[in-house]
Amino acid sequence: MLQYFAPDIICRSITDIPLDELKERGIRGLLFDLDNTITEWQKDEVTERNKQWLHDLREQGFSICIVSNNHAPRVKRVAEQLGLPCLHSAAKPRRKSYWQAAALLKLAPQQLAMVGDQLLTDVLGGNIYGVKTVLAKPIKPEKTFFQIACSNRRKNQDYPARNIERRDYFGRSSQRSKLCNQK
Ligand SMILES: [Mg+2]
Repeated sequence: MLQYFAPDIICRSITDIPLDELKERGIRGLLFDLDNTITEWQKDEVTERNKQWLHDLREQGFSICIVSNNHAPRVKRVAEQLGLPCLHSAAKPRRKSYWQAAALLKLAPQQLAMVGDQLLTDVLGGNIYGVKTVLAKPIKPEKTFFQIACSNRRKNQDYPARNIERRDYFGRSSQRSKLCNQK
């Protein structure tokens, strides 16, 4: 089971993908995740470096397709900018989008590699479908729910102490509540 979460290659960014190694393994097509792989999360701008590298990839004979779970308008905007085919609302890690991308590029799973920043979607789906998988470090990591909760807690650290006086059965204030109220 765990092998499905293990990428074949790990790299710092898409421009560090070892193309010679992929060629040796018979890879002819690359499926790219969009958010945090080609662009920053939810941003349409692609850096000149990434644009040039994707252009060079096609010059070297690789077929490319963007496979993203994001919605159609966003994915199409970036794909048109780069002149690449795309599949939106891909629902990775489900296999359907990988199968559709393979059909689009007219390549077998053995000739494809999925490149993305997420283990639970890009890598898991790619391994289930049977393509090579490349895990790239996210361009700008998204904040997790835990990180957002912690930063909100830090912002609200100066909230006033609760002024709740605890009383016992006879209506006397307890020592603990007195200490709390002294703050
Ligand atoms: Mg991503």
